[in-house]
Amino acid sequence: MTNAPSIFTRIINGESPCHKVYEDAHTIAFLDIGPVSRGHVLVVPKEERVRLHELSEASAAALGSALQKVAAAVVKATGCADYNVLQNNGAPAHQAVMHVHFHIIPKHADGSGLGIRWDAGKAPTDAAALVEAIRKSVPC
Ligand code: 5GP
Repeated sequence: MTNAPSIFTRIINGESPCHKVYEDAHTIAFLDIGPVSRGHVLVVPKEERVRLHELSEASAAALGSALQKVAAAVVKATGCADYNVLQNNGAPAHQAVMHVHFHIIPKHADGSGLGIRWDAGKAPTDAAALVEAIRKSVPC
């Protein structure tokens, strides 16, 4: 059984419309259909994967480069220097479209933009073990 292409793959393939602001060999960016604020843009790899860590290295590298370029363009076009970059992985982490994407969400002077509630915890007591586990898991 093959999975149906994501809505973003349909946009990449020209089968669904979008307001495109940027495209290169690996990446596309377009306006979010339900913007949190004016200038809310999605930056999307053409490689269809659900989670960020599943991308190929080439796709991830191109995505990082495009993200910086599109952020610069959004800042220039909106005149809004403040913004959040959001990237959700998995439904419990608020991912609705199961195709990797970064949000660029301008934070305007009128307060429109992303609202964040950040419940900071305590520093881990087993930081050394945690660090070792993560360091050992970094892909070569
Ligand atoms: P997520 O919660 O997965 O990080 O966010 C998905 C985003 O995709 C939402 O902000 C939603 O408005 C946007 N979105 C969903 N479908 C479409 C679509 O067909 N076109 C565009 N341009 N954006 C979409």
